[in-house]
Amino acid sequence: MTLYSIAPFALTDMPDDGVAIHAPNGLFTIEDRGAADALRALSLHSQIDHETLVETLGGCSDAPALENFLKQGLGLIHEVRPAACAVHLAGDPEDIEPLRSMFLSETLASPSEEREPGLLRIEAINRPNLSDSLAAARAALRPGQILVTLFPFGPETVVTPPWRPGLGIACPCCCMDFLEEARFQGGRRGELSLGDALAALQAEGCDGRPFRRLASRDLAYAGRIAAARSETVLGIRRGWDDWDDVRSLLRISHGMPNITRARVPLSPACDCLHHAPGN
Ligand SMILES: [Zn+2]
Ligand SMILES: [Zn+2]
Repeated sequence: MTLYSIAPFALTDMPDDGVAIHAPNGLFTIEDRGAADALRALSLHSQIDHETLVETLGGCSDAPALENFLKQGLGLIHEVRPAACAVHLAGDPEDIEPLRSMFLSETLASPSEEREPGLLRIEAINRPNLSDSLAAARAALRPGQILVTLFPFGPETVVTPPWRPGLGIACPCCCMDFLEEARFQGGRRGELSLGDALAALQAEGCDGRPFRRLASRDLAYAGRIAAARSETVLGIRRGWDDWDDVRSLLRISHGMPNITRARVPLSPACDCLHHAPGN
C-alpha cells in the first residue's frame, strides 16, 4: 500500500465554486469544480493511501493530471514509507478524537500505552494550569520518545517543537516560560499591556474567567502540523523542513490559519538540560 502524507494547506472559496490554495509551493487558484471539491476533501486528512486518493480525485475531469499537480506542482503530497512511526496520543478523550482522525491507521494512532508506547507522544493540553500539565507531559515521556504538545495560549494554538532529552532544544516548559516572558514584555516601550497580562493569567487559569478551550478544528489543524514535523525529526518524511523550521515553536491564529514561528531559547528557570526523564 502506498501511503502519502499531505502537507498542511489553507483553502479560500472563490466565486463559481473555485478555490485559492495556500500550499507549500505557493498560492494557486483552482477553477475546476471537481478539483476544488477534491481539495476540500483532502483538507480533512493528514495522510491518505493511494486507493483513497484515487477515489477522492475521481470526480475530476483529468484525475491523473491533478494527482501529478498535487505532487509536483503544489508540493502537497509526499509518499511516506508505510512503516511510519507509532504515535501515542495523550489528553482528554474529546481532545484526542480530532487528532486521531489525522492519522491513517491503528498503528499510527494506537491509543493504548500498553499496546505500543510509540516513538511519538502528542499531547493535547486543553485545560487551565498549563505549566503543571506541561511538566507532567514531560515527566510521562518514555525513553527515546519524542514529545510534542498542543495547547491554547491567548487567542492562539501553540505547537511546541518535537523534543526529547538530549536534543539540546527548548522543552515544552521552556516554551511556556518563553510565551509568558513574551506576553509580559510585549507591550509598547516594554510596558505591559493589560490585555497581555490578562491573556497570560487566563492561560494559567488564574483570572477567574472561563478557560478558552481549543475547538476540534484547531486541534486537528495543529495535530496535522505536529505529525508532519515529528515525522521529519524521526527521518520518516522528507521535503518538509525546506520551508518549516521544525525546531521552532508555532503559534497558530484561529480562523484563517496564520502561523508565527519562533526559535525558543532554553529557559534559565527550566531544568530540562540536567534532568533527563527516562534517560
Ligand atoms: Zn526546558
Ligand atoms: Zn535540577
